[in-house]
Amino acid sequence: MANAETALELIDIHKSYDDLEVLKGVSLTAHKGDVISILGSSGSGKSTLLRCINLLEQPSQGRIIIGGEELNLKKDKFGALEAANRKQLEQMRSRLGFVFQQFNLWPHKTILQNIIEAQTQVLKQPKDQAVAYAQELLRKVGLYDKQDAYPGNLSGGQQQRIAIARTLAMDPAVLLFDEPTSALDPELVNEVLSVMRELAQEGRTMLIVTHEMRFARDVSSQVVFLHQGLIEEMGPPEQVFDNPTSARVRDFMSSHQG
Ligand code: ADP
Ligand code: MG
Repeated sequence: MANAETALELIDIHKSYDDLEVLKGVSLTAHKGDVISILGSSGSGKSTLLRCINLLEQPSQGRIIIGGEELNLKKDKFGALEAANRKQLEQMRSRLGFVFQQFNLWPHKTILQNIIEAQTQVLKQPKDQAVAYAQELLRKVGLYDKQDAYPGNLSGGQQQRIAIARTLAMDPAVLLFDEPTSALDPELVNEVLSVMRELAQEGRTMLIVTHEMRFARDVSSQVVFLHQGLIEEMGPPEQVFDNPTSARVRDFMSSHQG
Protein backbone atom coordinates (compact mmCIF):
# COMPACT_ATOMS: atom_id res chain seq x y z
CA MET A 1 0.00 0.00 0.00
CA ALA A 2 3.06 2.25 0.09
CA ASN A 3 2.09 3.98 -3.13
CA ALA A 4 -1.60 4.26 -2.43
CA GLU A 5 -2.99 7.74 -2.16
CA THR A 6 -3.17 9.06 1.38
CA ALA A 7 -6.72 9.83 2.44
CA LEU A 8 -6.06 10.96 5.97
CA GLU A 9 -2.96 11.59 7.98
CA LEU A 10 -2.81 12.48 11.64
CA ILE A 11 0.54 13.53 12.99
CA ASP A 12 1.34 13.69 16.70
CA ILE A 13 -2.14 14.62 17.89
CA HIS A 14 -2.29 15.80 21.49
CA LYS A 15 -5.38 16.86 23.38
CA SER A 16 -5.81 18.06 26.93
CA TYR A 17 -8.82 18.89 29.01
CA ASP A 18 -7.33 21.32 31.52
CA ASP A 19 -4.62 19.30 33.24
CA LEU A 20 -5.74 15.97 31.85
CA GLU A 21 -3.86 14.97 28.70
CA VAL A 22 -6.15 12.44 27.00
CA LEU A 23 -4.22 12.18 23.72
CA LYS A 24 -0.47 12.09 24.12
CA GLY A 25 0.78 12.09 20.56
CA VAL A 26 -1.17 9.88 18.18
CA SER A 27 -0.11 9.49 14.56
CA LEU A 28 -1.82 7.40 11.96
CA THR A 29 -2.24 7.23 8.22
CA ALA A 30 -5.21 5.96 6.27
CA HIS A 31 -4.56 5.27 2.61
CA LYS A 32 -7.42 5.32 0.19
CA GLY A 33 -9.55 2.23 0.76
CA ASP A 34 -8.12 1.48 4.20
CA VAL A 35 -10.46 0.36 6.93
CA ILE A 36 -8.88 1.18 10.25
CA SER A 37 -10.49 -0.08 13.42
CA ILE A 38 -9.71 1.73 16.63
CA LEU A 39 -9.99 -0.40 19.73
CA GLY A 40 -9.32 0.27 23.38
CA SER A 41 -10.89 0.43 26.79
CA SER A 42 -13.42 3.06 27.69
CA GLY A 43 -11.68 6.37 28.34
CA SER A 44 -8.62 5.55 26.24
CA GLY A 45 -9.28 8.52 23.93
CA LYS A 46 -10.96 6.91 20.91
CA SER A 47 -13.84 9.38 20.60
CA THR A 48 -11.59 12.31 21.33
CA LEU A 49 -9.24 11.23 18.55
CA LEU A 50 -12.07 11.00 15.99
CA ARG A 51 -13.50 14.32 17.13
CA CYS A 52 -10.14 16.06 16.76
CA ILE A 53 -10.03 15.15 13.08
CA ASN A 54 -12.74 17.64 12.17
CA LEU A 55 -12.10 19.96 15.11
CA LEU A 56 -15.22 18.98 16.99
CA GLU A 57 -12.55 18.95 19.69
CA GLN A 58 -9.60 21.27 19.49
CA PRO A 59 -6.29 19.44 19.65
CA SER A 60 -3.55 21.09 21.68
CA GLN A 61 -0.88 19.98 19.22
CA GLY A 62 -0.61 18.06 15.98
CA ARG A 63 -1.24 18.12 12.25
CA ILE A 64 -4.24 16.94 10.24
CA ILE A 65 -3.92 16.21 6.53
CA ILE A 66 -6.95 15.21 4.50
CA GLY A 67 -6.58 14.09 0.91
CA GLY A 68 -3.09 15.55 0.81
CA GLU A 69 -4.20 18.96 2.03
CA GLU A 70 -3.11 20.09 5.46
CA LEU A 71 -5.60 21.83 7.68
CA ASN A 72 -4.22 25.22 8.63
CA LEU A 73 -4.22 25.54 12.39
CA LYS A 74 -3.31 28.29 14.80
CA LYS A 75 -3.27 28.59 18.58
CA ASP A 76 -6.24 30.28 20.16
CA LYS A 77 -5.82 32.40 23.29
CA PHE A 78 -6.11 29.32 25.50
CA GLY A 79 -3.36 27.51 23.61
CA ALA A 80 -5.63 25.06 21.81
CA LEU A 81 -5.53 24.71 18.05
CA GLU A 82 -8.26 26.22 15.93
CA ALA A 83 -8.75 26.56 12.21
CA ALA A 84 -6.75 29.44 10.77
CA ASN A 85 -9.17 29.60 7.87
CA ARG A 86 -12.85 28.99 8.48
CA LYS A 87 -13.54 28.36 4.81
CA GLN A 88 -10.86 25.70 4.56
CA LEU A 89 -12.20 24.02 7.70
CA GLU A 90 -15.69 23.84 6.23
CA GLN A 91 -14.33 22.45 3.00
CA MET A 92 -12.29 19.83 4.81
CA ARG A 93 -15.19 18.92 7.09
CA SER A 94 -17.30 18.26 4.01
CA ARG A 95 -14.86 15.50 3.06
CA LEU A 96 -15.41 13.74 6.38
CA GLY A 97 -18.57 11.78 7.12
CA PHE A 98 -19.37 11.12 10.76
CA VAL A 99 -21.63 8.39 12.09
CA PHE A 100 -22.22 8.52 15.83
CA GLN A 101 -23.60 6.12 18.39
CA GLN A 102 -26.72 8.27 18.58
CA PHE A 103 -28.23 8.65 15.14
CA ASN A 104 -29.36 12.28 15.56
CA LEU A 105 -32.03 12.20 12.88
CA TRP A 106 -34.48 15.09 12.80
CA PRO A 107 -37.61 13.67 14.41
CA HIS A 108 -40.04 15.97 12.58
CA LYS A 109 -38.66 15.30 9.12
CA THR A 110 -39.34 12.23 7.04
CA ILE A 111 -36.54 9.84 6.24
CA LEU A 112 -36.21 11.28 2.75
CA GLN A 113 -36.14 14.85 4.11
CA ASN A 114 -33.50 13.83 6.63
CA ILE A 115 -31.25 12.53 3.89
CA ILE A 116 -31.65 15.35 1.36
CA GLU A 117 -31.42 18.17 3.91
CA ALA A 118 -27.66 18.65 3.71
CA GLN A 119 -27.53 18.02 -0.03
CA THR A 120 -30.02 20.79 -0.71
CA GLN A 121 -29.00 23.19 2.07
CA VAL A 122 -25.23 22.76 2.15
CA LEU A 123 -24.34 21.41 -1.29
CA LYS A 124 -27.15 23.47 -2.91
CA GLN A 125 -28.09 20.57 -5.15
CA PRO A 126 -31.39 20.76 -7.01
CA LYS A 127 -34.06 18.91 -5.09
CA ASP A 128 -34.85 16.28 -7.73
CA GLN A 129 -31.19 15.36 -7.96
CA ALA A 130 -30.92 15.13 -4.17
CA VAL A 131 -34.03 12.96 -3.99
CA ALA A 132 -32.77 10.62 -6.71
CA TYR A 133 -29.48 10.13 -4.90
CA ALA A 134 -31.21 9.71 -1.54
CA GLN A 135 -33.41 6.99 -3.03
CA GLU A 136 -30.39 5.21 -4.44
CA LEU A 137 -28.77 5.29 -1.00
CA LEU A 138 -31.97 4.10 0.66
CA ARG A 139 -31.92 1.11 -1.64
CA LYS A 140 -28.33 0.49 -0.71
CA VAL A 141 -29.11 0.39 3.02
CA GLY A 142 -32.25 -1.68 2.35
CA LEU A 143 -34.79 0.95 3.42
CA TYR A 144 -36.22 2.28 0.16
CA ASP A 145 -39.75 1.60 1.39
CA LYS A 146 -39.25 3.82 4.48
CA GLN A 147 -38.65 7.14 2.73
CA ASP A 148 -41.91 8.70 3.91
CA ALA A 149 -41.71 7.31 7.45
CA TYR A 150 -40.54 9.34 10.43
CA PRO A 151 -37.49 8.33 12.48
CA GLY A 152 -39.63 7.57 15.53
CA ASN A 153 -41.37 4.81 13.61
CA LEU A 154 -38.14 2.99 12.80
CA SER A 155 -36.08 0.63 14.91
CA GLY A 156 -32.68 1.74 16.15
CA GLY A 157 -30.97 -0.41 13.54
CA GLN A 158 -33.04 1.15 10.78
CA GLN A 159 -32.37 4.65 12.11
CA GLN A 160 -28.65 4.00 12.11
CA ARG A 161 -28.80 2.73 8.52
CA ILE A 162 -30.61 5.96 7.63
CA ALA A 163 -27.93 7.96 9.43
CA ILE A 164 -25.33 6.15 7.32
CA ALA A 165 -27.28 6.93 4.13
CA ARG A 166 -27.48 10.57 5.19
CA THR A 167 -23.72 10.65 5.68
CA LEU A 168 -23.10 8.99 2.30
CA ALA A 169 -25.30 11.59 0.61
CA MET A 170 -22.50 14.11 1.11
CA ASP A 171 -20.01 11.86 -0.71
CA PRO A 172 -17.34 12.08 1.98
CA ALA A 173 -13.83 10.88 1.20
CA VAL A 174 -13.40 9.41 4.67
CA LEU A 175 -16.07 7.84 6.86
CA LEU A 176 -15.65 8.04 10.64
CA PHE A 177 -17.74 5.77 12.84
CA ASP A 178 -17.83 6.17 16.61
CA GLU A 179 -19.35 3.02 18.13
CA PRO A 180 -22.19 2.96 15.59
CA THR A 181 -23.80 -0.14 17.07
CA SER A 182 -23.30 0.48 20.79
CA ALA A 183 -26.75 1.97 21.36
CA LEU A 184 -28.54 -0.86 19.58
CA ASP A 185 -30.31 -3.91 20.91
CA PRO A 186 -28.10 -6.92 20.13
CA GLU A 187 -30.46 -8.32 17.50
CA LEU A 188 -30.18 -5.07 15.49
CA VAL A 189 -26.40 -4.87 15.42
CA ASN A 190 -25.84 -7.10 12.40
CA GLU A 191 -28.02 -5.16 9.98
CA VAL A 192 -25.84 -2.10 10.59
CA LEU A 193 -22.58 -4.03 10.45
CA SER A 194 -23.56 -5.60 7.15
CA VAL A 195 -24.11 -2.15 5.61
CA MET A 196 -20.69 -1.12 6.91
CA ARG A 197 -19.16 -4.31 5.57
CA GLU A 198 -20.52 -3.48 2.14
CA LEU A 199 -19.02 0.01 2.34
CA ALA A 200 -15.67 -1.51 3.25
CA GLN A 201 -15.88 -3.88 0.28
CA GLU A 202 -16.63 -0.95 -2.00
CA GLY A 203 -13.25 0.43 -1.07
CA ARG A 204 -14.38 3.31 1.09
CA THR A 205 -11.86 4.75 3.48
CA MET A 206 -13.14 4.20 7.00
CA LEU A 207 -12.05 4.78 10.59
CA ILE A 208 -14.19 2.75 12.94
CA VAL A 209 -14.29 2.85 16.72
CA THR A 210 -16.02 -0.36 17.70
CA HIS A 211 -16.28 -3.13 20.25
CA GLU A 212 -17.46 -5.60 17.61
CA MET A 213 -14.32 -7.68 17.54
CA ARG A 214 -15.27 -10.24 14.92
CA PHE A 215 -16.41 -7.48 12.58
CA ALA A 216 -13.23 -5.47 13.16
CA ARG A 217 -11.09 -8.49 12.46
CA ASP A 218 -12.97 -9.26 9.24
CA VAL A 219 -13.13 -5.81 7.64
CA SER A 220 -10.01 -4.01 8.84
CA SER A 221 -6.84 -3.46 6.91
CA GLN A 222 -5.29 -2.01 10.05
CA VAL A 223 -6.18 -2.21 13.72
CA VAL A 224 -5.12 0.44 16.20
CA PHE A 225 -5.22 -0.21 19.91
CA LEU A 226 -5.32 2.93 22.04
CA HIS A 227 -4.35 2.95 25.68
CA GLN A 228 -4.41 6.09 27.80
CA GLY A 229 -4.06 8.36 24.82
CA LEU A 230 -1.27 6.53 23.05
CA ILE A 231 -1.14 3.84 20.39
CA GLU A 232 -0.26 0.68 22.29
CA GLU A 233 -0.25 -1.52 19.21
CA MET A 234 -1.01 -1.09 15.53
CA GLY A 235 -0.92 -3.54 12.67
CA PRO A 236 -2.93 -5.87 10.46
CA PRO A 237 -5.77 -7.68 12.22
CA GLU A 238 -3.92 -11.01 12.28
CA GLN A 239 -1.19 -9.40 14.31
CA VAL A 240 -3.25 -7.30 16.72
CA PHE A 241 -5.91 -9.95 17.32
CA ASP A 242 -3.93 -13.17 17.19
CA ASN A 243 -0.39 -12.26 17.98
CA PRO A 244 -0.16 -8.93 19.79
CA THR A 245 3.21 -7.94 21.19
CA SER A 246 1.62 -5.98 24.02
CA ALA A 247 0.49 -7.98 27.05
CA ARG A 248 -2.21 -5.39 27.62
CA VAL A 249 -3.62 -5.95 24.15
CA ARG A 250 -3.47 -9.71 24.67
CA ASP A 251 -5.49 -9.35 27.89
CA PHE A 252 -8.01 -7.07 26.19
CA MET A 253 -8.45 -9.53 23.34
CA SER A 254 -8.92 -12.52 25.58
CA SER A 255 -11.59 -10.72 27.61
CA HIS A 256 -13.39 -9.35 24.52
CA GLN A 257 -13.76 -12.34 22.25
CA GLY A 258 -15.33 -15.64 22.92
P1 ADP B 1 -13.21 6.67 24.70
O1 ADP B 1 -13.99 7.15 23.52
O2 ADP B 1 -12.02 5.85 24.33
O3 ADP B 1 -14.06 5.98 25.71
P2 ADP B 1 -12.94 9.48 25.26
O4 ADP B 1 -12.19 10.02 24.10
O5 ADP B 1 -14.40 9.72 25.30
O6 ADP B 1 -12.60 7.93 25.43
O7 ADP B 1 -12.34 10.10 26.59
C1 ADP B 1 -10.95 10.08 26.89
C2 ADP B 1 -10.72 10.77 28.22
O8 ADP B 1 -11.06 12.13 28.12
C3 ADP B 1 -11.58 10.21 29.35
O9 ADP B 1 -10.79 10.20 30.51
C4 ADP B 1 -12.69 11.21 29.47
O10 ADP B 1 -13.18 11.26 30.79
C5 ADP B 1 -12.00 12.51 29.09
N1 ADP B 1 -12.92 13.48 28.48
C6 ADP B 1 -13.63 13.29 27.35
N2 ADP B 1 -14.34 14.40 27.06
C7 ADP B 1 -14.07 15.31 28.04
C8 ADP B 1 -14.51 16.64 28.30
N3 ADP B 1 -15.34 17.28 27.48
N4 ADP B 1 -14.02 17.24 29.40
C9 ADP B 1 -13.15 16.61 30.22
N5 ADP B 1 -12.71 15.37 30.03
C10 ADP B 1 -13.15 14.71 28.95
MG1 MG C 1 -16.00 6.90 23.00
